[in-house]
Amino acid sequence: MTNIAFIGLGNMGLPMAKNLLGANHSVFGFDLSPDARGAVVGAGGQAFSTVAEAVADADVVVTMLPSGVIVRSVYEGDEGIFASAKAGALMIDSSTIDVATARSVCAAAADKGFDMVDAPVSGGVGGAAAGTLAFMVGGTAEAFGRAEGVLDPMGAKIVHCGDSGNGQAAKICNNMLLAISMIGVSEAFNLGKALGLDDQTFYDVAANASGQCWSLTSYCPVPGPVPTSPANNGYEPGFATALMHKDLGLAMEAVAGVGANTPLGKHAAEIYAEMNDAGHGGVDFSGVIKRLAGEL
Ligand code: NAD
Repeated sequence: MTNIAFIGLGNMGLPMAKNLLGANHSVFGFDLSPDARGAVVGAGGQAFSTVAEAVADADVVVTMLPSGVIVRSVYEGDEGIFASAKAGALMIDSSTIDVATARSVCAAAADKGFDMVDAPVSGGVGGAAAGTLAFMVGGTAEAFGRAEGVLDPMGAKIVHCGDSGNGQAAKICNNMLLAISMIGVSEAFNLGKALGLDDQTFYDVAANASGQCWSLTSYCPVPGPVPTSPANNGYEPGFATALMHKDLGLAMEAVAGVGANTPLGKHAAEIYAEMNDAGHGGVDFSGVIKRLAGEL
């Protein structure tokens, strides 16, 4: 049993904290929202009214927050985690944030003698509830070794991606690829339909041919071929367009930072930005097929 402070008990953080409680850890929760603090108490954890109080007696601190600016302030603020945690505490940031901030905050942790990893996730709210998230972890081998057992009750797959920031790098590269592949699959279905091709027929061909990919066979953007995909449920997320837009923004920041050439990633980011800005941020990202067809 480990004392784990959990900061950021939203759609992802609360179910993750519940899985830590289920593994017999003590959870010391903090969130700006009183409802979220109440929910962690309802699940068997303790809630505190400041970050400093939540982390004071913790062996491990996990954060699951909306942005890099907030992550930096929660760690580096005057009454933040670095100022309040006990010596030797392990820090795990599972928020999706930009690579540069992740590296900078991890370096600040090291300066203060703390082990810290960036450990963003994929798998969404469903994976958080089921304890089947995929964790992409950046940090030293020693910090990863310490983090692995803590992440285990929350995840099905935990991959050490290299040094600090590499977890975030893996996350944004994967999601940039996902955005491109979903747009590609959507364009193929839309063209097929315009040419008189039945959706199921095209699926049966492409799923067994060189067009096969996760966006087609696990998350098909047309209703029918994959019954569990959001297309069968009015494009309810799943993975909302607003979150894909956020992740593509982080990817494009990283692209600019290193001068990489990602023309399709850039175009995918523009398509999802337009879809989000047109008021469809709450639609599953596979709903891009409707946007491309001019139906959304
Ligand atoms: P959310 O908005 O539901 O939760 C964020 C929580 O952080 C909120 O409860 C908010 O009150 C709290 N918070 C904000 N500022 C705070 C502060 N200074 N101190 C303490 N608490 C604070 O968001 P979410 O969906 O849980 O996402 C969390 C992170 O996980 C994000 O970085 C997101 O990109 C990433 N993520 C989300 C999903 C998803 O499907 N929702 C999937 C993968 C990754």
